[in-house]
Amino acid sequence: MRRGVGAGASPWVVAFRARADGFFDDLRVAGMEKPRQFTRDGQANSGMRAAIVYNRAVPERHARPRGGGRAEPREITELRLIKERQPDLQSAVDMQIELIQLQRRVQARVAMPWFDWSAATVEAHDASGTPLLRFEDIPIEWTELRLMVRQTGEILRRHDSLESADFAHVQTLAREADIKTVLEQWYQRTAHAPTTAGARDAGDAMLGEVLTLALRPFLARCADVVQPRVDLSPWTRGYCPLCGDEPDFAVITPAAERWLICRRCTLRWRFDSLGCPYCDNRDRTRITSFATPDGQYRVYGCDACQRYLKAYDGRNAPRPVMPTVDGVATLPLDAAAQQRGYTA
Ligand SMILES: [Zn+2]
Ligand SMILES: [Zn+2]
Repeated sequence: MRRGVGAGASPWVVAFRARADGFFDDLRVAGMEKPRQFTRDGQANSGMRAAIVYNRAVPERHARPRGGGRAEPREITELRLIKERQPDLQSAVDMQIELIQLQRRVQARVAMPWFDWSAATVEAHDASGTPLLRFEDIPIEWTELRLMVRQTGEILRRHDSLESADFAHVQTLAREADIKTVLEQWYQRTAHAPTTAGARDAGDAMLGEVLTLALRPFLARCADVVQPRVDLSPWTRGYCPLCGDEPDFAVITPAAERWLICRRCTLRWRFDSLGCPYCDNRDRTRITSFATPDGQYRVYGCDACQRYLKAYDGRNAPRPVMPTVDGVATLPLDAAAQQRGYTA
């Protein structure tokens, strides 16, 4: 199983998982397959439900000014609202806010990359399964990258999401002369189609988590440039057309299309509305889909590879999807999905 900040093995998911019995009783089963047996635990349900439906009451609003009247990023405002409504998620929210602030500071200083990819180029890459962005084309500034590695490690450690041995490892890496080689090898390892389920898990999962967060300002900058300018519709794969990593969230558009969101660079691309992006299972009878009671979020569990994907249903939503916000808001859903035997 992949470990993930906001998913997988995070301490919050472990805490929720202990209380997740019966949670799926509250979810509307939308898949073709009947759900398995559930157990009941009414007490846990009420808390979980509160966590899931909080967004219903979130009004459409702009960031409120904080500290000297400068507008706060919308996602941070939304995260603070989660904390008010769901105190259980306080520590997860605090960590996410610190990560966002660090990433935004660095991303503002990243040079603007330039791309000229035609639909034919995207189609050719889709045919060969090769993502578009080569490592050497990522606009990395190495002093900034080292700072990202070091400070990301500090934030995770402060919120008990990094063991002390892993923390020491990360701090050493941030000073290492050869950090480029480590980063490049890791990028190449995750930038291709998985040959078997779980093939991407090779290597140090926690280091991968830190590197994903540390590289995000540079990759997100690329994604921001590519998203509105490049026609990605020829790309049909379940992994990211830009950096080759997996999706860890999805959004259902008002047109009922499902777009996957890359866990590493945040790029979005359209994908089969029920197929599994992880094992390419397109047999809808082997996908179990659930919705939260308010219809705001969904989970797709694949009964071929046993992995799951969370999605924000944007069809009647009060705001656009915000992966960093929705990832935290749906921590109880991770617990519920894992309770059913699915893995992140
Ligand atoms: Zn990507
Ligand atoms: Zn699958």
